[in-house]
Amino acid sequence: MAQVLTKTITTRVDIQRALCKKCGICLAFCPAGVFARNERGEVIVAHAESCKHCGLCQSLCPDYAVTAQEAIA
Ligand code: SF4
Ligand code: SF4
Repeated sequence: MAQVLTKTITTRVDIQRALCKKCGICLAFCPAGVFARNERGEVIVAHAESCKHCGLCQSLCPDYAVTAQEAIA
């Protein structure tokens, strides 16, 4: 009998507040709408569950403030 194996890919997205200058680049380029601004104008991870694991935010952040780490389970 054939066995079906499934893998779940998740990405943990974090912003280091001390490094972030609130430029909004990650917010503008994320294709999945993961980021948003809070009432203080800070960029936050609002919808981590929508992440498409592209790594764009981590690549584009000029201050190395955002990390997107993939995990396969
Ligand atoms: S791109 Fe980097 S510095 Fe700019 S808002 Fe996003 S996390 Fe902050
Ligand atoms: S890895 Fe891609 S989809 Fe996920 S938060 Fe970063 S830019 Fe958005």
